[in-house]
Amino acid sequence: MEKRVRVRFAPSPTGGLHMGGVRTALFNYLFAKKHGGDFILRIEDTDQTRFVEGAEEYIINALKWCGIAPNEGVGFGDGPHKPYRQSERKEVGIYKKYADQLIASGNAYYAFDTAEELEDMRKRLEAAKVTAPQYNAVTRQNMRNSLTLPEDQVKKLLESGEKYVIRLKVPRNEEIRFHDIIRGWVTVNSTQVDDKVLVKSDGMPTYHLAHIVDDIEMKISHAVRGEEWLPSAPAHILIYRYLGLENEMPKLAHLPLILNPDGNGKISKREARFPVFPLSWQDPREKEPYVGYKESGYYPEAFVNILALLGWNPGNNEEIFSLDELANLFEFERVNKSGAKFDPEKAKWFNQQYLRKKPDSELAEAFKPLLKEKGFERDEAFMIEFCKLVKEKVQFVHEFWDHGKYVFIAPDTYDEKVMAKKWNENSKALFMRVLQTFEGLNTWTSQTAHEAFENLVKETGKIDLQLLRVLITGVAGGPHLFDMLALMGKEEVVKRLKTALQKFN
Ligand code: GLU
Repeated sequence: MEKRVRVRFAPSPTGGLHMGGVRTALFNYLFAKKHGGDFILRIEDTDQTRFVEGAEEYIINALKWCGIAPNEGVGFGDGPHKPYRQSERKEVGIYKKYADQLIASGNAYYAFDTAEELEDMRKRLEAAKVTAPQYNAVTRQNMRNSLTLPEDQVKKLLESGEKYVIRLKVPRNEEIRFHDIIRGWVTVNSTQVDDKVLVKSDGMPTYHLAHIVDDIEMKISHAVRGEEWLPSAPAHILIYRYLGLENEMPKLAHLPLILNPDGNGKISKREARFPVFPLSWQDPREKEPYVGYKESGYYPEAFVNILALLGWNPGNNEEIFSLDELANLFEFERVNKSGAKFDPEKAKWFNQQYLRKKPDSELAEAFKPLLKEKGFERDEAFMIEFCKLVKEKVQFVHEFWDHGKYVFIAPDTYDEKVMAKKWNENSKALFMRVLQTFEGLNTWTSQTAHEAFENLVKETGKIDLQLLRVLITGVAGGPHLFDMLALMGKEEVVKRLKTALQKFN
């Protein structure tokens, strides 16, 4: 029988969750949803030296904002496998028996080497031109561990409270083969794998041991994580094997990296010229906060849609997908092996697509407080009409101001290019006629203004529409002009035309 789908997102609280981490969470979420399975949030906090205040809360809030909440785990409700924080799991003794089992079966050993001794080893190996010095089947023979020291001395050291770590005993020159759903079969020679520390000198398990124990105990069916963990996977396979759990281990899926827009390497949060975090993040160790996607005006649906297409493709040219659609379509077979380039301009385009789908009333509601900040207030009907007209020009709600501020503020400059090119000695007289015609209109709508203008054009032979726009709004382009004039109102339009005609001769 196939295992029930249970996946986990297992971040370490070492900082804000960046977009790569959110994508990992998203793919886990989609897979669980597609298969009616469980999605678990486990906090991997065994490395206390890297703990960052506020990171866990940030992770929880970010998942909530994205709409990809786990159904079990830290911040999302206890299930049968609580606690979900590794530090708490260590307290209740979950990891110890597995470490003891590995020692008892001879697949792990105690190592008493001090930091200086390890450093000496590294120097010795470097001097001997060893390219990647590591604690392994060869070098361990010259170190102080339970494989080299006499048994009674080991016993004494343990009893006397001497500090030690527990290391995995990786065999020499053995092929380790494992399957990854995205990458297929991978074979690595054990010479490339070091004797990983499984339990640290403070008694805490490392990630390597803890996540395996947790994945087994939490009955995880698929371990989906970033590509950076691929080099550790062979060691993980050995641990499962030595614990007799190879048949129960989750299937592995290592997701490709998200690359810089120019494709040369990982996105750097300090250098990126686009948001890297879903929500603004103030790292307690840094001065300036990182501005998030949310605070930059992105919709969570757009953000999630962008992330879904970084490394995964639906097999056709469609690009806009709701979370439900994504969950229906998602499969690991359509995740690429190679890194996915992030395109910040395309990200804005996605937001624009979602903005266009919003009802005008919602856009109006969202823009209202921003308009108020600029010192203007209008009734709902006005706001809705304004948003309806200007929305084709904007990618973010805050851009309604940039693209439509002339509706609220009369121009004090007039597009110079258009004026230089189109304003001539006949213009003033012609636009005086326009002014008089507008003033004489009893009903002021887009249609009446437009018709009146067209009649004048027919009669006079030439009145430039773009000049009319510039005289009233100051700018050369924008949404449908007569719709805009209708919204602004006859009085305002007439006043602006008068001002402009006083200025130009
Ligand atoms: N704690 C690991 C991390 O922060 C999780 C890796 C995994 O999912 O196994 O990336």
